[in-house]
Amino acid sequence: MLSFPQTDVDKLAALIAEGDFFVIVCHTNPDGDAMGSSLGLADWLVQKGKTAMVVVPDMFPDFFQWLSGAQDVVRYDKYPDKAALAMAMADVVFCLDINSPNRTEGVEPLIRSAKGHKVLIDHHPEPEAFAELTFSRTQACSTSELVFTLIEAMDGFDALSKKGAECLYCGMMTDTGAFTFNSNRSDIFYIISRLLTKGIDKDSIYRRVFNNYTEGRLRLIGYALYKKMLLFPDQKASLIALTNSEMARFNIVKGETDGLVNMPLQMKNVRFSAFLREDVEKGRINVSLRSVGTFPCNRFAAEYFNGGGHLNASGGRYYGTLDEAVEHFKKAVQEFVP
Ligand code: 5GP
Ligand code: MN
Repeated sequence: MLSFPQTDVDKLAALIAEGDFFVIVCHTNPDGDAMGSSLGLADWLVQKGKTAMVVVPDMFPDFFQWLSGAQDVVRYDKYPDKAALAMAMADVVFCLDINSPNRTEGVEPLIRSAKGHKVLIDHHPEPEAFAELTFSRTQACSTSELVFTLIEAMDGFDALSKKGAECLYCGMMTDTGAFTFNSNRSDIFYIISRLLTKGIDKDSIYRRVFNNYTEGRLRLIGYALYKKMLLFPDQKASLIALTNSEMARFNIVKGETDGLVNMPLQMKNVRFSAFLREDVEKGRINVSLRSVGTFPCNRFAAEYFNGGGHLNASGGRYYGTLDEAVEHFKKAVQEFVP
């Protein structure tokens, strides 16, 4: 198991013992790990007799609605006042699955001005030193793994409920593509075996996430791979770019395109895949990057798309039209030296 300095673990345990009201916040476009780690921690705090609220910057996909507590999550984009009040009143603000408050966009000023203690739990590179306690390990497969690790370190395993265990399993599963990448550490399978003792049904969790899509999503994937995928053989790269109206044609809502970016990597000669998605609401292009091997998505994201992330999975944004973003990508992929 990954470990943290005992002094930090003791401080965390003390903050939890002394506090009553805990707010947990994660990144925009919350994914399975952002949701799973946040809701898993919230559930555990509630089992400990505390009050916990999860604040998300914006909408999360429908196929995470089954997670325990998902119905009670406060969306900042819908209820900014409620989110602001909670952040201001919290004894402790937990920041999960982010390396900096800027990953929460509009929630950032609320985090920075919060008077409560701040705790960061995350597995992204280069954590910003803004929190009183930072639990950051880039080796971790997911933030959910780190939440479990901290619960164990605080002797809190008994208080973890089956529903909390489901949340943490979901986060570990989604951040590793159902344990197909970034998941060779034996700790991961030790943790899974511990979660199974809580009675979770991991096969059902897989189906609830990966076999629970709309018809539109499957048809959009067919369309995107058949009609829209560009290949760059010299760079072993691929690009899919989708307009808002293309996604609307298939009734796609946010989050439903997750996973599409991984598909070109199924080809034997592709080691870098990019997905550009027009986001009309935010007036920008959202960029997802994935790679296999040593190709540094995070460097590519930082140099060309105002982003960052992990070596093999990064994100960013482009301010301009989708066509301009595609041209920008084409130039970038030619000149980038991995
Ligand atoms: P996604 O393609 O799923 O949006 O993002 C892939 C990964 O990159 C996720 O782990 C996400 O947290 C991270 N990521 C996305 N955008 C940014 C960014 O602007 N900065 C950093 N540091 N990480 C990002
Ligand atoms: Mn994560």
